[in-house]
Amino acid sequence: MDAFLVRKDEKTRLGNTHRFYVSPDTVFRNDGLKDLELTKGDSVKIAAFDLDGTLIHTRSKSAFAKDSQDWEPFSDEVKPKLKALHDEGYVIVIFTNQKGLTSTRFPISVADFKTKMRSIVSLFDVPIAVYAAMERDRYRKPNTGMFRMLKRDLRKLGVSISETCVFVGDAAGRPKDHSADDKGLWENIVKETNVQWGFRVPEDFWTN
Ligand SMILES: [Mg+2]
Repeated sequence: MDAFLVRKDEKTRLGNTHRFYVSPDTVFRNDGLKDLELTKGDSVKIAAFDLDGTLIHTRSKSAFAKDSQDWEPFSDEVKPKLKALHDEGYVIVIFTNQKGLTSTRFPISVADFKTKMRSIVSLFDVPIAVYAAMERDRYRKPNTGMFRMLKRDLRKLGVSISETCVFVGDAAGRPKDHSADDKGLWENIVKETNVQWGFRVPEDFWTN
């Protein structure tokens, strides 16, 4: 049965949503799933998103964020659409590659990224499970490590993933895209689970 998702009370929600940590060593994450009233035996729909260039983009219009304040929603449609997805029973998830958290070339501190994610989750105001791969390892898209973590986290709550899921990302291998890692992750998830997830690019997803 699909879960009817409700948000826990404000106190619990804020307490959990805003707790971010690094675990295992190369994945920055939060306890977003604990903000949802999930019941053992539920099967939930997932709406998963890339972060940069999908949910948000830089306010400065530069390719990399200048600081933790340099972001804004990808468009005005993002917030209402996330709320609608939450109301339809989707679990909202972010899968993002954040090599900058460990690189010396484009350094972002974990503290700054935490501040930024806290503001993003607060602004969108729905429970969001965040997974950020900090290294070039099995967690980094297009590898499926972050998806496997999500599956394991849900399994611990006695919950499985339904067939009605979607992944939205801007790295889709189109001529101007910087990579095809989002599409690659989606292809790998489909291969691994044999479930027909949908794949969408942000320009199309937010406006339709
Ligand atoms: Mg992106």
